[in-house]
Amino acid sequence: MDRVSKEDEIMKKALFLLPMLLLSQDTVYYNGKVATLASPSTVQAFLVRDGRFLKTGSSEALLKEAGPTARRIDLKGRTVVPGLNDSHTHPIGAALAELDGEVPVMKSIPDVQAYVKKLAQSQPQGRLIFVPKVYSTRMRERRYPDRYELDAVSGDREAMADNGYASVLNSKLLIRLGITRKTPQPANGKIIKDEKGEPTGLILGAQQLLGSLRADRAFSHEERVRALKTMQAAYNKAGITSTSDRGQRADGFRVYQDLHRRGELTVRSSVTYRIAASGKPADIVREMESIPFTTGFGDEWFRVGPIKTVVDGGILIGTAYLREPYGMNTHVYGYVDPDYRGVVNVPRENLITMARTANRLGWQMTSHTTGGGAIDLLLDAYEEVNKEQSIRDRRFLVTHGNFPNADAIARAQRLGVLFDVQPQWHHFDGPALGPVFGAERTKWWLPLRAMFDAGVLAAGGSDHMIKYDSRASINAYHPFYAMWMTITRKMADGAILGPEQRITREEALRMWTTHGAYLTFEEKQKGTIEAGKFADFAVLNQDFFTVPEDDIRSIEPVLTVVGGRVVHGQ
Ligand SMILES: [Zn+2]
Repeated sequence: MDRVSKEDEIMKKALFLLPMLLLSQDTVYYNGKVATLASPSTVQAFLVRDGRFLKTGSSEALLKEAGPTARRIDLKGRTVVPGLNDSHTHPIGAALAELDGEVPVMKSIPDVQAYVKKLAQSQPQGRLIFVPKVYSTRMRERRYPDRYELDAVSGDREAMADNGYASVLNSKLLIRLGITRKTPQPANGKIIKDEKGEPTGLILGAQQLLGSLRADRAFSHEERVRALKTMQAAYNKAGITSTSDRGQRADGFRVYQDLHRRGELTVRSSVTYRIAASGKPADIVREMESIPFTTGFGDEWFRVGPIKTVVDGGILIGTAYLREPYGMNTHVYGYVDPDYRGVVNVPRENLITMARTANRLGWQMTSHTTGGGAIDLLLDAYEEVNKEQSIRDRRFLVTHGNFPNADAIARAQRLGVLFDVQPQWHHFDGPALGPVFGAERTKWWLPLRAMFDAGVLAAGGSDHMIKYDSRASINAYHPFYAMWMTITRKMADGAILGPEQRITREEALRMWTTHGAYLTFEEKQKGTIEAGKFADFAVLNQDFFTVPEDDIRSIEPVLTVVGGRVVHGQ
């Protein structure tokens, strides 16, 4: 090798090492009020090296230890918390929903009509007018629009107002699908008809009828990669450093893999693999055996989460599977049916097969289960399989789990089953749904106090599905807004639903930090501010522990750091 190429070689090596050297420069954050969620519970300072916390302690000691070359960041007395973990998001779909323009916040039927009208004028002819996330519980009228209200603003176009589990179709779309007064009721759903027997346009459940309409607009791989990147930046702004994506298939995993390969993930992501589990049990086993990985595969940025199915519908739709009939106060859902208990998509035998196969192959398992009946069904399956081989180390989950009763909480505790819960529904939909469920049932709506007391671990999640904005999106994903809901149990109308189930500020913070980390088997890597863990944290503009209770919802991170790297603020 001649001299020039040798120098060249050295230069190349130096350039390659430069970013590593920069990264390995120590940074000391001092003069703060650092809530470690470990021991001691509060410190003034911490030292970061190579993307991890090296040490925590007093400002004086750590400034001395850091040495002259370390960067010094004065926290100016601000509160610091461990990086926040949203245990239930759909970031790719949420961002894609606004790829063609902002989706307005719709609070009434005229709001929905105005948006349909706008899309009818602005979108290319031939494309279905699709309005996402329309919930009757969040409409001022406390009902869905009907086909005629959509007809009035959609011109000669096909239109639907949808929320993923229920849809209102306009007349033109009903005609194309051949849905008439004579159409029999689908097995796992409901076609709502008026007193004359005519379809009103509202269809509940019935994924086989509506699924392909929802997938009408195709997005390219590159659009999806960019959507994920943009959404993660918005999450960082809210202090989020980790999340569990709650449902992808192979194409979604490739999106994460691609952004990871480019080194551009800014939120550590555990990604859930979703299967229908609706066929024959043998088909479920075959499908699960054909997936080339199981829970935990990957690294600290992108890892395989649980395998998930969807047992029932939703409490916002009136298709959640309850322990007993809904009753007579269900006008908000568009029907009154004294015998109706909701939808079950996955038969008991299939759930048992899925849980047994997950346990055998090493998968963590979860299921979307919103009603009490669905929770019981899922716990039955877990219990059955646990008799054959313990599921405790698998940390099986209940996703949503809105109405666990005392028995379900005790069973979850015995089985080591965890919950991924959404206080946002309690807050936004409580005013409309309190009267539907009545006093007795709402006592067990999101019973966090009871879960903490029983030692059943609940991780905080938003189920963020659409829009960028952290507080105006569905569902609002701002962690401090959500923590405030669990601490106060105040609903959107200001009333308090179930005050006895309130939790403390520290418990709320744990739901978005240590519990989220435990849920993805990463409690040794993150969730607290301790030596050896990833330097994931958020510096806040107000003191979470001492501000008046109602100010908690407006706390904003001024700085978010993931693995020692600033991803929001400066
Ligand atoms: Zn979800």
